[in-house]
Amino acid sequence: MLPPAAAAHRADQAAEMAAIVHRQRTLPEQADRLERLAGSSLATAGTPEQRATIRLLKSDVEKQARLPQRLVEELARAAVEGQQAWVAARASSSWEGLRPHLVRMFALKREQAACQRPDLDPYDALLDDYEPGARWRGVAERFALLREVIVPLVQACIGSSRRPDDGLFSQRVYPVDAQQAFVREVAKRIGFDFNRGRLDTTAHPFCTSLGPNDCRITTRWNDRFLPTALFGVLHEAGHGLYEQGLPREWYGLPPGESASLGIHESQSRLWENSIGRSRPFWNWCLPLAKAAFPQALGEVGVEEFHDALMVVRPSFIRVEADEVTYNLHVMLRFDLERAVVHGELAVDDLPDAWNERFERDFGMRPPDNAHGVLQDIHWSAGLIGYFPTYTLGTMFASQLLAAIRRAIPDLDAGLATGRFDELLGWLRREVHAEGRMLESEPLIERVTGMPVSGTWLAESLRERYGRAYGL
Ligand code: ZN
Repeated sequence: MLPPAAAAHRADQAAEMAAIVHRQRTLPEQADRLERLAGSSLATAGTPEQRATIRLLKSDVEKQARLPQRLVEELARAAVEGQQAWVAARASSSWEGLRPHLVRMFALKREQAACQRPDLDPYDALLDDYEPGARWRGVAERFALLREVIVPLVQACIGSSRRPDDGLFSQRVYPVDAQQAFVREVAKRIGFDFNRGRLDTTAHPFCTSLGPNDCRITTRWNDRFLPTALFGVLHEAGHGLYEQGLPREWYGLPPGESASLGIHESQSRLWENSIGRSRPFWNWCLPLAKAAFPQALGEVGVEEFHDALMVVRPSFIRVEADEVTYNLHVMLRFDLERAVVHGELAVDDLPDAWNERFERDFGMRPPDNAHGVLQDIHWSAGLIGYFPTYTLGTMFASQLLAAIRRAIPDLDAGLATGRFDELLGWLRREVHAEGRMLESEPLIERVTGMPVSGTWLAESLRERYGRAYGL
C-alpha cells in the first residue's frame, strides 16, 4: 500500500523502530535478569517450558547484543529501500535498478552473520535465524538426493503420453463471490477458527498473527483459475491452524512461538498438498465445490477433478509452480544465495548464473530478468537463508504424514467424510503444543520416530505423479 514517494520516510521510521527495539532488548539490566534466572533453580528444576524460556531468551538476547546498533539500523533501512527498488525493477525488468541494493544487502548480511554468530559458517549464521539448528551442508545433502528424484520425474511427466488435464480449471469461470464463500467454508471445516482469525484479500498471500486470538490469512482471486485461491487458502489456513494451536498462555515467549519457518511450512504444505490434493479429501469436498460452482463443475466426477490437480508444468515463476517443480525453484535460490554469501559468486553475476541453472533444471531459459532473478522479493528485503525452509517444510510435511498414517490408520475414511478433528488433534498435540521448545530436526525426529530425510517426499511425489502420468 505504500506510495513510492513515501519510501524514504518509511525507511527512516523502520530504522528508528529497529534501533528502539534493539536498545530495549539489549539493556544491561535485561541481560542481568536473564543471567540471574539462568543461575536460579528454575533453570534446572523448572518445568520444561520455564527451562526452555530461560535458555532461549538468553541466547536470543546474546545474539542480538552482538549486533552493533548501526548495523541494525542499516539493515532495517536497506530492507525498506530494497523492497521499493524491487517493485520498480521487477515492473520494468531492470536488473540495474536492483543491482546496487542487492550488493549492499548481501554485504550487510555478511556483516550481520559475522557479528551475531562468529562461531558459524556465514550462511549457517543466516540460516539459523529462520531454521534454528539447521546447517547448510546437511540441507544441501538432503536436497541433492531429492533433486535426483525430481529432475527425472519432471522429464518423465513432460514426455509421457498420458497427461492430466486442468482445462476444467483454466477454461471455465469461477465467480469470485462464490469462491470467497467456498474457500471460507473449507477453511472453517478443516478447523480454522474465524472467531480468532480472518480471511482477507491481498496481492501476495500470507499469514500473520497480530495477537494470540488474531490470526490473519490472506489470498488473491482469479475467476479463471480456481486453484489460485483454493490452494492458497488451504496453504495459509495450514499456517493459521499452527498459529491458533500454539499455547496461548505462553504468547510472546518461546513456548508460545513457532519452532521454525520450516515447521511452519510443514503445516501449510500438509494441508495444501498432502491433504488438499488427495482423492479422499475430494470425495468429501467435491459436492461442496459443485454446489458453489454448478456451471463449471456440474458434470465433473471426482476422478476427473483429482486428475486436474496433478498437472506438472514447468514455469518461470516460483509462486505459480506445481507441487513437483516447486522444489527445483527453491534449490536454485538456495545454491545461488549460498554462493554469494560464501564469496564464490558476485552479485553482478547473479542474472547469468540464474538463467544458466534454470535452463539446466527446467530445459528453458527465462525470457527476461522479471521472469528470472527479479521475481522474488526475498533478497531485496534481506531474507537471505530463508528459501531452503520452503523445501525443508515440504519434506517435514511428508514425513509427518507417514507418522500420522501410522497413528490414525483410518485417516482416509475421515478425510472422505470431512472429519478432520483427529488429524488436527494429532498436529495440535504433537507439533503445535511444543511451541519453540525443540529445534525443527529434533522435533520431527521425536514426533515421527525417524531421522529427518527427503525420502518420504521423494516417494510421495514419485508415487502420486507416477500414477497420474501413467509412468
Ligand atoms: Zn507458507
